[in-house]
Amino acid sequence: MGERMICAGCGVEIQTEKEGETGYTPESALKRDVVICQRCFRLKHYNEVQDVSLTDDDFLRMLNQLGSQKALIVKVVDLFDFDGSWLDGMHRFTGGNPVLLVGNKVDLLPKSVKRSKVIQWMKKQAKEYGLKPVDVTLMSAETGEAVLETADTIEKYRNSGDVYVVGCTNVGKSTFINKLLREFGAEDEAMITTSNIPGTTLDMIDVPLDDGSVLYDTPGIINHNQLSHLLSKKDLKIITPKKEVKPIIFQLQPSQTLFFGAMGRIDFIEGAQQSFIVYMSNDIHIHRTKLEKADELYTNHAGRLLSPPSEEDFSSFPPFNMKEWKIPSGKIDIVFPGLGWITISGEGSVIRTHVPDGIHVTMRDSIF
Ligand code: GDP
Repeated sequence: MGERMICAGCGVEIQTEKEGETGYTPESALKRDVVICQRCFRLKHYNEVQDVSLTDDDFLRMLNQLGSQKALIVKVVDLFDFDGSWLDGMHRFTGGNPVLLVGNKVDLLPKSVKRSKVIQWMKKQAKEYGLKPVDVTLMSAETGEAVLETADTIEKYRNSGDVYVVGCTNVGKSTFINKLLREFGAEDEAMITTSNIPGTTLDMIDVPLDDGSVLYDTPGIINHNQLSHLLSKKDLKIITPKKEVKPIIFQLQPSQTLFFGAMGRIDFIEGAQQSFIVYMSNDIHIHRTKLEKADELYTNHAGRLLSPPSEEDFSSFPPFNMKEWKIPSGKIDIVFPGLGWITISGEGSVIRTHVPDGIHVTMRDSIF
């Protein structure tokens, strides 16, 4: 493609090489009188927001602009991958703008857990990350639970101003915006307007609100600490829970190990017998074994008995990194980002975690 071309919808530079990235347009669409990127095309014709990912540089550029606008920031996180989808440090870029924290995918949490408890927990976690949201809400963009309440809360805090919806890829932003678009029946032609931030090309979708303000859907930001980047689409389907997660309780003695497919492993090294409560997709195969046999099992069976990943993907899987943890008082979660978490409560116990190089296990106060 010789000359530089700009999308008539959102103002981003058009490119024909990388599908799924900003500005992608198929070669054939360049012949049209008005050229728009595939993301705008889908929104215009199918009333559907499509995922594109931003590079880290683009993301920082975009965040810097958020700080200089007066707007409500709606930060969407995935309740099932809270830490993995948090986007640490974002609040430093949002200027003095209020942030509404929305926990999506609440349908995946066990129904027995009180919603108010989850909200309290989110407030506490946000504080630890250094964010003081104006409010915290829960919803399920997929099932529609509390989507309208979330829209009302946005309305309450935006003070007739603009709204930016931000979040990591896969938190459910597109699902949420599409639900809103359908709910409020926005006219498709009206939805695509040129980005009105002067001198910039931002691949944002503008959804005009009643009073002339705009709701911007910002593209997802890739979080590199996500297991999903190492897995095939098929395996990703297995590890992503689709419905309420049923916790599985293992009574473990020291010197026992649990494998989560071949994607993670937890060893109980020291402490009294206790329960390890696993919150993961019900389709993940969990294998219990003796610690002394664990290395050999992994060497001989990863990709087969221990899967996902499948055998062919396992060949390019990074080797495991090990970390030792001493359990403090209270109930805590050991979080395997992208997979789920394990709740334990044995003060003074020692455990070890193993995850592919580049993925970081964390410990937090228990969500329940
Ligand atoms: P985006 O990258 O943030 O725009 O995320 P998407 O809207 O594309 O959603 C990512 C994945 O999460 C998709 O497979 C959705 O079906 C799923 N998803 C989105 N919202 C929910 C939800 O509320 N509950 C559940 N269980 N899945 C959801």
